[in-house]
Amino acid sequence: MKLEFFGAAAEVTGSCHILHIGGRQVLLDCGLIQGSRRDEERNRDPFPFDASGIDAVVLSHAHLDHCGRLPLLVKRGFKGPIYTQDASCELVAILLADAAHLAERDAEYKSRKTGKKVKPLYTVAEGERVIRQLQNRKYREIFEVVDGMKVRFRDAGHILGSASVEVWLSENGAERKIVFSGDLGQYDTPILRDPEPIDRADFVLMESTYGGRRHRDRAETVKELGEILTSERSRKGNILVPAFSIGRSQEIMYQLGKHFDEWDLGRFQIYLDSPMAIEASKVYWSNTHLYDEEATRLRSENGGMPLLPNLKLSRHPEESMAINRIRSGAIVIAGSGMCNGGRIIHHLKYNLAREETQVLITGYQANGSLGRRLVNREQSVRIHGRTIPVRATVHTVGGLSAHGDQDDLARWYECMENRPPVYLVHGEVDSQEDFRNYLGKRNGAEIHLPKPGDFLEL
Ligand SMILES: [Zn+2]
Repeated sequence: MKLEFFGAAAEVTGSCHILHIGGRQVLLDCGLIQGSRRDEERNRDPFPFDASGIDAVVLSHAHLDHCGRLPLLVKRGFKGPIYTQDASCELVAILLADAAHLAERDAEYKSRKTGKKVKPLYTVAEGERVIRQLQNRKYREIFEVVDGMKVRFRDAGHILGSASVEVWLSENGAERKIVFSGDLGQYDTPILRDPEPIDRADFVLMESTYGGRRHRDRAETVKELGEILTSERSRKGNILVPAFSIGRSQEIMYQLGKHFDEWDLGRFQIYLDSPMAIEASKVYWSNTHLYDEEATRLRSENGGMPLLPNLKLSRHPEESMAINRIRSGAIVIAGSGMCNGGRIIHHLKYNLAREETQVLITGYQANGSLGRRLVNREQSVRIHGRTIPVRATVHTVGGLSAHGDQDDLARWYECMENRPPVYLVHGEVDSQEDFRNYLGKRNGAEIHLPKPGDFLEL
């Protein structure tokens, strides 16, 4: 039995590893490569394995960098089951439908622009085929994936349904246990439970996205949000909140609901302007058995989720366009999270030049994104071919990351009393090296940085 590293070894996206056991092959995740256009073109490359030779997929959670190449896997011949947690199953269906729809639209646009027929990465129909192969499993349920391989999902506290994966392997009398962290959340993330402790493993595959840094304290972050929303300025214009549809949008709504009276939010009209975030919110608000203690208590006190009486859901384009006519008193939560596309672009176009506007940046903004330009306080930005002066106030509110920082990652690892060797995946090289030094000093762990194509004999 052995493990082969393919994607997200020494990079952040495209998570994909392959386990070989008793002549069978099982993928851990099948994520999309994200980043620059050139990086994303690599998604069209053939897999370095035969898709029809894969027996099953075990999927940690519903983010595109973990599940976004599943439609390609199916299209190229994979016919087996895709196991993921219950809520994750619902979110994957929403996410892949949206990704396929955007891929089709993008291809149409490029075809028109270049005069050549550009094929989408995958079509809506191809996205739907994946959904038929999904198999939902509960946290803590042990199930067989193939002969000689059993799996159990444990809550990873990253987004709803996210899992760390315990894998038990047995071959010719030898037994091994591998733990794949998936993406780990911060401890004390609202709504979600903390990453669940796992007591031992022979090998650990671990994410290290923020292995090189510490997040700002969450309580400080929430206090800062409160100061912005109660300031004199907030009485004048609109407040725009770019947010990812799964996770961040729900967390922001939850914070607004939790502090509704304290921050006097009844004077605003709050909009969730994203069909996908609306769908994802349904999954969040209906899987109440996965909530942490605080969310369970607030939900029962308020008689349900979300906790916002003045929330308007904006599904249709006309509803979204109507928001552009509002001059003040609106809080608009819309995607995309990095302002690269989606409806937030239109709201920015209409509001950035107005001094009374405030923009709340609550998530990571990649280099080159419009969101990063705003964070960098550029004086003007280009939107839809027009130069827009930035007179709005842009607040960067740190501390709401869905990923644990180095202390969170170390805390999770240290639950494993036997201190197994660690293979760092899913992180840029700098943060992997920082985390290797940090963890090594803290507890003497043996840490490896595998490269794509490397094998680990188990
Ligand atoms: Zn993730």
